[in-house]
Amino acid sequence: MEPAPGTLYVVPTPIGNLGDLTLRALEILGRVDLVAAEDTRTARKLFSRYQLQTPLLAFHDHSGPARRQRLLDDLRAGKAVALISEAGMPGVSDPGFELVRAVIAADLPLVVLPGPCAAVTALVGSGLPLNEYFFAGFLPARDAARRQRLRQLREIRATLVFYESPRRLPATLAAIHEVLGNRQLAIARELSKLHEEYIRGPVAAIREREAGRDWRGEITLVVAGAPAAAKASEEEVAAALERLQAGGGELSGRDLVAALQAEFPDWPRRELYRLVLAARNGER
Ligand code: SAM
Repeated sequence: MEPAPGTLYVVPTPIGNLGDLTLRALEILGRVDLVAAEDTRTARKLFSRYQLQTPLLAFHDHSGPARRQRLLDDLRAGKAVALISEAGMPGVSDPGFELVRAVIAADLPLVVLPGPCAAVTALVGSGLPLNEYFFAGFLPARDAARRQRLRQLREIRATLVFYESPRRLPATLAAIHEVLGNRQLAIARELSKLHEEYIRGPVAAIREREAGRDWRGEITLVVAGAPAAAKASEEEVAAALERLQAGGGELSGRDLVAALQAEFPDWPRRELYRLVLAARNGER
């Protein structure tokens, strides 16, 4: 497939196993005019494995606006450009976001290829619910800030995903245990590499089992979301009932029960009836 002129291709690259480059990514990297790479050394390894010879240009967080402008000028001049990060999907805790925004703002064509991403891979392997997840990137390095961030995330019901450095992992596990409680989690280590490993279980048991371990390699942490909220108290249901009755309109007992059931699905219908009857008889 010939790349379209003047288009920015965002190309995900392997997160460990060099075999994980897609055929389409390979074609694009081989045929664009220029590859902007976060780390030209890692890019060269990939290029040598696939015998690619496309010119490389360093493009990282510290490149500054001039480098971004240069890429925009290249695109406007009709060059096809690919963006790669050190590993995985550019823009996901990696450079790329600002360039993507600039390309969209300039109304230039943008194509994002699907492919490797540590967060998504770890999520699927964690065995934790996938119907909703919250990608939280890297936690702050300082302990107080890290705990503060965890407190902000404490009520989220979706599964949480973090990138973490091996050096900070023990402190992060301790903070998760203290701030979020003894949640289920999965440590996904060295995904797609020789020593790939998943450590799954409640954080307390993992901390005990792995105490003193010298963590190495790349790590993604997947943590169960907040447990389901406790059943609403009778006072809460009674207050909702009062609100419904005060709202005007003659609601029948059946209407009141139906409205309460919609708001408190955990409450059995007969208990809601009992409350409605008690309220009618002036017992509450
Ligand atoms: N853009 C990348 C992606 O799409 O996955 C993530 C880049 S971020 C700077 C790097 C972090 O991703 C690492 O510190 C680690 O937390 C996680 N990571 C990358 N490769 C990994 C692997 N093979 N196994 C586990 N985690 C990995």
